[in-house]
Amino acid sequence: MAGTKTHFRVFATCNIGNEALDRLRQRGYEVEVYDPLEPPPKSLIVAKVRSGVDALITTLRDPIDAEVFEAGRGTLKVVAQDAVGFDNINRADANRYKVPFTHTADVLTEATAEFGVLILGCVARKLYPSERLVREHRWGAWHPFLPFLGDEVTGKTIAVIGTGRIGQAFMKKALGFDVNFLCYDPVYQAHDFIKKIQEELDLRLRHGFTHEPRTARYVSFEDALAGADFVSVHVPLLREGESRAPTFHLFNQKTLRRMKPTAYLVNTSRGPVVDEQALAEALRTGVIAGAALDVFEKEPLPADSPLRAPELEDRVRLFNHFASAGRITRLSTDPNKGMAGRAVQAVIDVLEGNYGGNPARMPYVVNKEAFE
Ligand code: NAD
Repeated sequence: MAGTKTHFRVFATCNIGNEALDRLRQRGYEVEVYDPLEPPPKSLIVAKVRSGVDALITTLRDPIDAEVFEAGRGTLKVVAQDAVGFDNINRADANRYKVPFTHTADVLTEATAEFGVLILGCVARKLYPSERLVREHRWGAWHPFLPFLGDEVTGKTIAVIGTGRIGQAFMKKALGFDVNFLCYDPVYQAHDFIKKIQEELDLRLRHGFTHEPRTARYVSFEDALAGADFVSVHVPLLREGESRAPTFHLFNQKTLRRMKPTAYLVNTSRGPVVDEQALAEALRTGVIAGAALDVFEKEPLPADSPLRAPELEDRVRLFNHFASAGRITRLSTDPNKGMAGRAVQAVIDVLEGNYGGNPARMPYVVNKEAFE
């Protein structure tokens, strides 16, 4: 351990996993956990920070901004977010107060990507209406096309919006369905990766696993939407002013209209990337065929959300922000496997001065620019 003081105080706004938090306790840290299921009110977070905690462990439900950093002036040394997305943390404010904040990239990539593929199949092949039919004793005789059919995934075209960690992992998994990929990412284009995906697709053809050539390529947003049978979204939530390519309401009345009427939208990124009013309208009026959604503009999904409309039920799958919720992914104490392990290690790195005490060199710190 590089640091001398080990009696650090940590406030976790949520129980991210007892075993992982025990790693801190075993090192002599005093760890206080906010136990209720609902997130703590912001005033409580501010009060805890003002009381002098060294580290704050947060989730995507907690707004962390100048008010919090001001309360922790001189005492708060790190904010460790138990998620890869950090749109709830004001990066400019963190930088102004020179507080490093960390996230849990990589360890949730595979679980989230796998969930994206699974819910895509779930909505396309009508898994929910099919099971309901059985459970509600409405399963009549076997019939070639009644009471409904699903749409195959195999051989179709998938638009991948955002080709970062999760977008790429999604492609690795989905290629077993022998699909074409239309990729869109205005910020980072992973040409080497796409070349490898193309090589895999070609190999499948050569081996006779599929009989038609498939392609993977970057295209414009418009072409991705217009050409896809499925559109899978893997972007961070970036509001106006936070990026030259903001993603807030990237899917709106205008862009949804560019999709095929037979196409499905799959969102495992962040709710506000999709204008839900526009989506509900597009679904009602047949602008697109269906949607599978893990994230929402307001979570939990309000009782009066238009996405809950009974007439949309067979075509809209709704999930409880569940994509990374695999047992190992959420709870493993191993920082190379679990979000909890990674969040805790991030706290240790900063408080104990690992990596020469330089946050810019610490692997899980997001706002490295504030320390370079
Ligand atoms: P990442 O940073 O590796 O990838 C995001 C990609 O989106 C980047 O390549 C970036 O260039 C691209 N991008 C940015 N602006 C864009 C735009 N306007 N249009 C298209 N692409 C754009 O992040 P990641 O690890 O792949 O995670 C992506 C997001 O998924 C996270 O930010 C998080 O919000 C969300 N997520 C959700 C869950 C869940 O439980 N549902 C789990 C994990 C991550």
